[in-house]
Order: sequence, then structure tokens, then C-alpha cells
Amino acid sequence: MSKVKVLVTGGTGLVGVAIKYVLENEPEGSPFKKREGEEWRFLGSKDVDLRKADDTLKFFQEYGPTYVIHLAALVGGLFANRERKMTFLRDNMLINDNVLHASRLTKVQKVISCLSTCVFPDQVPSYPLTEAMVHLGPPHDSNFGYAYAKRMVDVQNRAYKEEFGCNFTSAIPTNVFGPNDNFDLKNAHVIPALIHKCHLASVNGTPFNVMGDGTPLRQFIYSRDLAKLFIWQLREYNDVEPIIFTSGISKQITIRKVADSVAKAMKHNGKPIFEQKPGDNGQISKGASNAKLMSLIGPEYKFEFTPFDKALEETVEWFNANYGTGAVRGGLPSN
Ligand code: NAP
Ligand code: GDP
Repeated sequence: MSKVKVLVTGGTGLVGVAIKYVLENEPEGSPFKKREGEEWRFLGSKDVDLRKADDTLKFFQEYGPTYVIHLAALVGGLFANRERKMTFLRDNMLINDNVLHASRLTKVQKVISCLSTCVFPDQVPSYPLTEAMVHLGPPHDSNFGYAYAKRMVDVQNRAYKEEFGCNFTSAIPTNVFGPNDNFDLKNAHVIPALIHKCHLASVNGTPFNVMGDGTPLRQFIYSRDLAKLFIWQLREYNDVEPIIFTSGISKQITIRKVADSVAKAMKHNGKPIFEQKPGDNGQISKGASNAKLMSLIGPEYKFEFTPFDKALEETVEWFNANYGTGAVRGGLPSN
């Protein structure tokens, strides 16, 4: 029997490492466990710079993946996106174009690309956001470079299907967090940035400063839950239409609640201080529906979302165990 080769681009990042963890740590019999006959390869930027077309194609020709889960991207929180819109647009357009083009040329049987709820319009008539709303208006101004690069993947997937019959699709996760996140103080997403800030506040006896006024709403998914959903999508889903991956609109919480939960999980004694600078709130809500996902994922998967507080506890545990060892990532590549 010939081997099934699954290539995970972005395999060294938050979500890629979570997929590896799930494949290796699920109990025998779990549908999320690595299957016999499968070879999984977790690609990082040191293996191939996917912004480079020739290097990307050469890698695909040599490795010959059967399937691709495409996670690689320049990724950052609100403040990184706001400062480097052109870099987020160009790097991500190059990476996506090179991966999809190489996948077509080397006859990859399925590509799942990871988008983000940033792709949705900022102004919508009503929430929750659904898969049908991706192209219905401009994204929020704070991250339009990243958002348009990601949104274009959905356009590419449809065009690849129509012209070449490719089986390319995408997933749209809400904000992700978990072990092995980027914990940069300035460039990270809100949960890892606040964990790091809270740690420094506790150690140095300084205030635990949080950006904005705490009112924006965000909907989170634990990286290990998201990993399971990618494995399910790889095994079961063959439609170009994207699927939103999230725990559901009722689980949306304010940034104030996030900050309080981080302080509690970090056993920090002080209260979060909101800096309240105008413009620092970003998008007010990106609340999305998981109705499509829940209607499709079969009972044999026995999939359940990890409760937010438990996922946060596991993330904090990982941070505390790894801080100061060199394993905690920070920063972003420069231009
Ligand atoms: P991450 O931790 O920052 O990891 C990014 C990954 O992409 C790393 O493996 C990195 O490789 C790789 N990469 C970056 N530039 C590359 C390049 N030029 N060539 C090759 N590889 C490159 O990001 P993540 O949070 O896991 O994100 C994974 C996917 O989820 C992304 O598509 C992201 O847009 C999406 N997403 C993330 C969130 C979130 O809250 N984190 C939310 C929604 C969607 P090295 O580490 O080796 O440099
Ligand atoms: P977004 O969901 O794409 O906007 O990305 P983030 O994960 O960066 O979340 C941004 C939200 O968290 C905004 O409402 C920010 O005001 C709030 N926030 C509060 N403190 C921080 C922080 O230290 N870093 C980040 N990235 N966001 C913060």
C-alpha cells in the first residue's frame, strides 16, 4: 500500500504543533489519532520560505504530498497587523499563491487552507457571522492587509475548482490560543500577550496593563480542539465552501473577562488596568456561528470543545513550565 503523505505548512506554529500533539496523544481507537499508512510532515519557515515560488515548487515536487493542511502565514495580533498592513498582505498573498499553485502542479488531492474570522466584513446587518457572509463588505480597517490576503484564498479555491477541478477548501477559525503560542508582548494575540504581561506584572510588582477599554467581544478556540477539527475536515470534508471552526456565539466574551480570567489563571493579585487609548479596541465583535460545523461532524468523532477556563489553565501551565527555557516564542520576522 502506498503511503499517504500529509503536509502541514506552518507545522512549527501554534496550530501545527497542536495537530502533531493530537495525532500522537489521542488514545487508541480515537478517530483523531494518526492512522497506519499515514506520514505527516510538519514544515517550518527554516525548511522552506514559502514566499519564494521556486523553492516552494521544488519542495512540493520532491516531497509529493497527497494532502496539504496549509497553516503557514505571517500571523500577529491587532497591533502587529495595524502597523504592517502591506507586509501582512504581501507575505500572505505570496505564501498562499505559491502553496496553491504548487499543489495544483503536483496534483495534491486535497488542500485545506486556514483563514480567520478577520476575513469577515466589519459591518454586518446582524450576528452571528456565517460562511455565506465572507465577501459582503470590507473587513475591519485594523487588519485589512491580512484579511484580504486570507479572503483571496476562498476566491482562489473556487477558481481552482472551476478551471482545474481541484479539491481545495478552507476553514475559518475564531481567535486561537494554546501551548506553543507566540507570547510576544507587542505582536502577539490578546491571550498570549496578556499571559506574558501578567507574568511580568507579578514578578516585577508592576501594573497588569491591558490595551483598549475591555468592551470588545472575542470568541476563542483552544488550539488542540482546532487541531481535531482540521483532522476531521481532512478525513471527511470535500467541498470548496469554507467552514467556521468555533465553540459558538454564546461563548463570546469581553476582553475584560479575558483579562480577569488570565489574572486568575496566573494567580495574579492585582486588577487589570485598561489603558483606554482611542483606536486600541479593534473590531468590536467577530461573533461567528458554528451551526454548519455541528451539523456535519458525525457522532463517531465524539467531538467536544474544551471549556475555556480549562484550556486557559493548560496554556498557562505550558507557559509557566517553559518560560525562561528558550521554548517560549516571541517576535515576528522583520520585513
Ligand atoms: P504561528 O504560531 O505564528 O505559526 C506560523 C507558522 O507559519 C509557523 O510554522 C511559521 O514557521 C510558518 N511560516 C511563517 N512564515 C512562513 C514562510 N514565509 N514560509 C514558511 N513558513 C512560514 O501561527 P498560528 O497561530 O499557528 O496560525 C496558523 C494558521 O491559523 C494561520 O494560517 C493563521 O492565519 C490562522 N489563524 C490563527 C489564529 C490565531 O489566533 N493564532 C486565528 C485564526 C486563524 P516558523 O515558525 O518555522 O517560522
Ligand atoms: P484581533 O481579534 O484580530 O483583534 O486580535 P487580538 O487577539 O490581538 O485581540 C485584540 C483585542 O484584544 C482588542 O480589543 C485589544 O484592545 C485587546 N487587547 C487588550 N490587551 C491586548 C494586548 O496586550 N495585546 C493584544 N494583541 N490585544 C490586546
